[in-house]
Amino acid sequence: MSHDPTCIFCKIIQGEVPSAKVYENEHVVAFLDISQVTKGHTLVVPKIHRQDIFELTPEVASNLFACVPQIANAIKKQFNAEGVNLLNNNGKVAGQTVFHYHMHILPRYGKEDGFH
Ligand code: 5GP
Ligand code: ZN
Repeated sequence: MSHDPTCIFCKIIQGEVPSAKVYENEHVVAFLDISQVTKGHTLVVPKIHRQDIFELTPEVASNLFACVPQIANAIKKQFNAEGVNLLNNNGKVAGQTVFHYHMHILPRYGKEDGFH
């Protein structure tokens, strides 16, 4: 299935649910996480509905990872971050709560930035 009408991220991709988009191309969209763990916390998602890393083809994975450096640089600059963490949860047991693959980009600002 390339699109799941019940999936919140598919709804964001389709524009049915609003989001603060920071990047978009043919294959990928990036938008601010609704719950900002640190300022500028962003999610990068493939436009095709794939549940987790176990469902990614090399093509979907490479299209996604190809734009992560550019997005990370843009966020670092825009929010004046010192660094970023990339984080990706796969499976309920690993803390995944939205079952459309996504990479978290967490800007980091120093000791008291709220991410531990
Ligand atoms: P996970 O726990 O699956 O790795 O991360 C899911 C993330 O999606 C969470 O950080 C959560 O705040 C975010 N999220 C859930 N629903 C929405 C939404 O409707 N809009 C946005 N922008 N983020 C969402
Ligand atoms: Zn989806």
